[in-house]
Amino acid sequence: MRSPEDELAELDAASLRRTLRPVDSPQQPESIIYQKEVTSFASNDYLGLATHPALRQAATEAIETWGTGSGASRLITGSLSPHRQLEEFIAKAKKTESAITFANGYTTSVGTLSALLEKGDTVILDKLSHASLVDGARLSGATVRVFPHNNLDKLERLLQSTSQSAEPNRRILIVTESVFSMDGDLAPLREIVALKEKYHALLLVDEAHALGIYGSHGMGLAEQLGCSSGIDFHMGTLGKSAGSAGGYIAGSKAFIDLIVNKARSFIYSTAAPPAQAAASLAALKLIQSGEGAALREKLWSNLRLFSELTDSPLPESAIIPWMVGDSQKALDLSNQLFDQHSILAPAVRYPTVPRNTARLRITITAAHSEKNITQLCEILNSLA
Ligand code: PMP
Repeated sequence: MRSPEDELAELDAASLRRTLRPVDSPQQPESIIYQKEVTSFASNDYLGLATHPALRQAATEAIETWGTGSGASRLITGSLSPHRQLEEFIAKAKKTESAITFANGYTTSVGTLSALLEKGDTVILDKLSHASLVDGARLSGATVRVFPHNNLDKLERLLQSTSQSAEPNRRILIVTESVFSMDGDLAPLREIVALKEKYHALLLVDEAHALGIYGSHGMGLAEQLGCSSGIDFHMGTLGKSAGSAGGYIAGSKAFIDLIVNKARSFIYSTAAPPAQAAASLAALKLIQSGEGAALREKLWSNLRLFSELTDSPLPESAIIPWMVGDSQKALDLSNQLFDQHSILAPAVRYPTVPRNTARLRITITAAHSEKNITQLCEILNSLA
């Protein structure tokens, strides 16, 4: 039997071993990591809400009222009002009939895809779709097809061949992210909506990295592009720009009811703590408010500053991949930034990204100061 030590040694040899860093500060740019003061460019807390007083207050009040735990799965102990209020808010914000939340985004994707699809159905994913979407697709038993990243011609060809061969009544589901988590680029959502309509397919869009950042109400890229109504399943996480935790899926009442009935990660898992739902609701309200719009503007002004100082195009999102290629070189660069410059810019390696495309994944947030961005850019420029 192979030992875990041997397996870990193999990961080490390929520069693919992961370790957990000890952090002794809240989610904010000024962090204490390995007992050292560093500036973090690693967090997906894009608006800086994870430490916002409104979220702290909502969570604290919910703990006072509801205690800490949810007791059991929602189908056993029922839906507490913080969960119901959050879901009603999400459905309204996404202009759908209904919405359901899970404890996190990963279990939302896995549960939703495996609830919606079964053997005989087809799921067509963008090649760079998040692991949770890939895992849900595989678990569902449906035929899994993959189109090269953002390649609309290939997507159309797959839709053509699938719709010709599929038996009537079979579901065909297109799956994409709106902002890709490791490349920070955007999906051509309007064009994908047009294709899904042409071929009578369904469409699920994961807005994990877009919520809070795009659209006049901060509801995501589909809101900004005006194509929300063409999306059947709006998916996202509350753990990134919403500064809390949880995942949501919004869609028609019948489909959401079906997910409640069939998603195993919903049915067989204890509901998220009520305080988590309360913090998420406070975050969504804030994202839609004038303060949310000001935080978005601050984020985009930080991104403009990054672009000016590094003489590079304006990033399309808050995620900036600094491409390296080789895993060890990416690790070395990340360690160099940490050890010599007190900057956390994590190396992202296979299997999170394809082989030989290791990179630093730099995230810029509204909580970074101009000084933080200037310091980062000076160092990056000195490396180039
Ligand atoms: N989808 C995407 C695109 C993600 O990047 C992530 C988180 N890495 C998830 C889903 C999962 O969300 P969560 O972290 O809430 O589990």
